[in-house]
Amino acid sequence: MNTSVEAQIHALIEELAQHNYRYYVLSDPEVPDAEYDRLMQSLKALETQFPQYRLSYSPTQAVGGFVSEAFRPIEHLQAMYSINDGFDEQSTFDFDLRIKRRLELDENQPLRYFCEPKLDGLAVNILFEKGWMVHAATRGDGNTGEDVSQNVRQILGKQARLIGDNIPDRLELRGEVFMRRPQLEKLNHRRRENDQKPFANPRNAAAGGLRQIDPKISARRPLELYIYGAGACEPDTLPESQAELMEQIKNWEMPVSDLVRSVQGIDACLRYHADILERREQIDFDMDGVVYKLDDRMLQQQLGSTAKAPRWVLAHKFPAQEELTIVEQIDVQVGRTGAITPVARLKPVHVGGVIVSNATLHNKNEIERLDVREGDTVVVRRAGDVIPNIVKVLLNKRPEKARSYQFPRSCPICNSHIAYSDGGVIARCSGGLVCDAQRKGMIRHFVSRKAMDIDGLGSKLVDQLVNEKLITTPADIYRLNEAQLLSMERLADKSVRNLLDAINASRETTFARFLYALGIPLIGETTAATLARNFITLDALKNAEFDQLVEINDVGPLVAQSLLDFFGEAENLQVIDQMVNKLGIQWPDPEPVARDESSLFYNATVVITGSFTDLNRTELKALLEKAGAKVTGSVSKKTDFVVAGVSPGSKVDKAGKLGIEILDEAQLLSHL
Ligand code: NAD
Repeated sequence: MNTSVEAQIHALIEELAQHNYRYYVLSDPEVPDAEYDRLMQSLKALETQFPQYRLSYSPTQAVGGFVSEAFRPIEHLQAMYSINDGFDEQSTFDFDLRIKRRLELDENQPLRYFCEPKLDGLAVNILFEKGWMVHAATRGDGNTGEDVSQNVRQILGKQARLIGDNIPDRLELRGEVFMRRPQLEKLNHRRRENDQKPFANPRNAAAGGLRQIDPKISARRPLELYIYGAGACEPDTLPESQAELMEQIKNWEMPVSDLVRSVQGIDACLRYHADILERREQIDFDMDGVVYKLDDRMLQQQLGSTAKAPRWVLAHKFPAQEELTIVEQIDVQVGRTGAITPVARLKPVHVGGVIVSNATLHNKNEIERLDVREGDTVVVRRAGDVIPNIVKVLLNKRPEKARSYQFPRSCPICNSHIAYSDGGVIARCSGGLVCDAQRKGMIRHFVSRKAMDIDGLGSKLVDQLVNEKLITTPADIYRLNEAQLLSMERLADKSVRNLLDAINASRETTFARFLYALGIPLIGETTAATLARNFITLDALKNAEFDQLVEINDVGPLVAQSLLDFFGEAENLQVIDQMVNKLGIQWPDPEPVARDESSLFYNATVVITGSFTDLNRTELKALLEKAGAKVTGSVSKKTDFVVAGVSPGSKVDKAGKLGIEILDEAQLLSHL
């Protein structure tokens, strides 16, 4: 028994040391943090139960980082610590009680805490002398860190000094270097284009970016920094509370997160946790929890630290955004435009606060890059509103018989062949409306909330109606009758009546909604609204030419071509005609705009270019339209006036060549 406990402890220490190395030195962890935390918890539990086997070098007893030889070592003036974790409410109450007992305070008196987001990046310690930045280091082993001064200077830019009053002679400020999620997406997009491995998460990208020997490479990573505290201060003139300290740091023009809050009592800490957790998806950087700090700095000092962590701080963790699970199967989904997306069917796992059982594999390239196979143990990630995806495969856990995934050659739904484009990356079923998957996707889109908004026509019912051949085109929805619907599984009288009412109500719609509902490739909600606004009638849009389409702001050549292709298909026109002329779909005519026939711009075609002082371009456009003008995007022989603001660009040259009258802002306004 005992030897096996000892062996277990040894094995856990060994495993954690390897993970620490991959995480802190290589910035490329093998397992998700949740798995690391579980291993650490198991080790702690064993050490608590069998203290005789606790080893001095156990990772439970020291800060987990390393100092790589690639960097100049820098010793911190004051040690940098880790933070004790809590995963639930109880650990938060225990933390509060431990503090009160240790300080011999009344357990019923609430304490003041300072609450902060726990950013998921990596810590730096920046030394300032007389307000000027001297150097910056990573946390390293807690006492000595790695010199990352150049890179931190780059992040701080002009702010690499403290500005204002009360600046101590020597001061260490601690903060977290991190990357925002949208920046990671852009960076990964560039990396994929350059055949480089994308970063699994913003933390790895930030850590890899900061710990770059070559500052030129680091400069290409959009990193940011939030300061969350201070280390040594000589002479110690810092304020008496964490809240005031953070205010002071802000006054020195150092970056501080605006999510920090000063609160009274541990219950308020829990409310803060709940609030930030609820907003986690809207906040564009990753946090792995929130941090509670006892506010009073004198009490902080009285409490002190263990070898690893201060007693006055707790990290209350959020549910993990990355977890381990198993790929049970890989198959493909066919979308409404025929796009084929491979999907991993996962052993259900709790990630990012929900149970995830599917993850997108994006495309053929992604499967090849990950080399993901059925049976593999993988790290699945769900952060923000992103669809869960697989970030890596644990090759050492791969079953022997796992075989590479073969992408299908024909559509699993209709058997039509799969056409590849974009160098074989994008796969599309060539079946069109022969393919029931595309038909179902198209109908689901047509009835969806932002389109025709037919309540009660859910995915399952659409599938049934398509399978029974009661619906082949969206027009068929308006031909459904009571008897047909009653023959569907699980549809009772009342729901049939409600559904028929909803179908009926959807006949009264708007041009923009109808256009969006048609599911024309590349025409999203906004583009549909723009087209509806500009063309006003369906006939005008159907007959629009390429040049007319691309003249509209936000309509590029691809969108224009997509519209031409769609309206060029006789079958599409027929379905639209049935809906609009026979099945009663209608929308109100646009409000007639009162136009001023005496205006210089009545019936004139006008192009606006450059920027303006008194009005913005949208306002100018509205004024011109009110005066009866048609405002277009490019200069042609049909243009009557070009209105040129500051820095107008080539449109003015073209107007000059064509002999078109050019008006400046003042001239324009004098005519309006
Ligand atoms: P920690 O969880 O003990 O927390 C301390 C760190 O939190 C600080 O150094 C700082 O970087 C950061 N921090 C963010 N916001 C802060 C704030 N407002 N105030 C103070 N500090 C703030 O960090 P640690 O000791 O570096 O690492 C432990 C964590 O790292 C674990 O939770 C573990 O999941 C993860 N880890 C993962 C692996 C892996 O293989 N996946 C390996 C090692 C560590």
